[in-house]
Amino acid sequence: MKVLLHICCANCAIYPIKNMREEGLEVMGFFYRHNIHPYTECLKRQQALEAYAEQIKLKVIYQEGYDLEGFIQNVVFRESERCNYCYHDRLRSTALLARRGKFDYFSSTLLYSKQQKHELVRSMGESIGKSVGVPFLYRDYRKGWKEGIECSKQIGLYRQQYCGCIYSEKERYYKP
Ligand code: SF4
Repeated sequence: MKVLLHICCANCAIYPIKNMREEGLEVMGFFYRHNIHPYTECLKRQQALEAYAEQIKLKVIYQEGYDLEGFIQNVVFRESERCNYCYHDRLRSTALLARRGKFDYFSSTLLYSKQQKHELVRSMGESIGKSVGVPFLYRDYRKGWKEGIECSKQIGLYRQQYCGCIYSEKERYYKP
């Protein structure tokens, strides 16, 4: 069975990929770029993933283009609810790609992060899966949180300090 896994960064991908392979699934990655700001940060995360993917022999599709403007236009005036749009676009893009590539499932490394709204990711993934016609592979990868961090430190992966968008960067560093 083939699964297309949306990857937000190499660190969050370690445990889900290991787990999926142990389950006997054939995994391919999809790196979505529009929500990672600024562009230089997006490149750092992509380069870290490229290096890690080579190490573990993972094929990855890297999204073309960099639609920062589109991302901002879609969340402006409702910045506090921006994650809804962000999750939805990342999951839907992955599901559509999975349908085109005839994958059996799609999934997301968002299911690994303790910082994300896990139940929302799950319900959105399942509903997008139904509408697109490719099932969402749900697993609670948060159980591998510690293991993933330890492994990423051990191999010296680049570890980002904020979720991705420019708003999350401000929340991380701006302390009035
Ligand atoms: S905080 Fe993270 S999940 Fe929320 S909109 Fe920004 S990048 Fe997306």
